[in-house]
Amino acid sequence: MPLLMEAVGVAHVELRLSSDDEGYRTITGRIAARAVLQCQRCLGPVGHELDLPVSLAMVWAEKEIPSLPSRYDGVVVGADPVDLYELVEEELLLALPLVAAHEPGACPADPVSPDVESTGSDKKNPFAVLRGVETGPGT
Ligand SMILES: [Zn+2]
Repeated sequence: MPLLMEAVGVAHVELRLSSDDEGYRTITGRIAARAVLQCQRCLGPVGHELDLPVSLAMVWAEKEIPSLPSRYDGVVVGADPVDLYELVEEELLLALPLVAAHEPGACPADPVSPDVESTGSDKKNPFAVLRGVETGPGT
């Protein structure tokens, strides 16, 4: 039976609990979320889209994980029920980049590149001022 969780504005989670043909108890589905991180160059906010496939098999002990089929990651469960929120949170944290930054060319802290200049045809040439300096008095 599919299990649907939705935290408004944070993450969209679809997880299916089942067991496969080999008897593994599995949690499969996907987690989609938009995280806002801090760019390490300009310190501004940078959106990060996550869309993670989830393919987990529940095991009793850490030592069982290496023997799982490669299509599964292991999640250790004990006598307590699995906390799905914790599990989702962990998956998201693992998927987030350690160092967030804007895409090259999209960061306000980046020097303006020729590519950006050529696409912004209706904008003032950001190098015009520099050219003025270069051709100023003294040449
Ligand atoms: Zn930035």
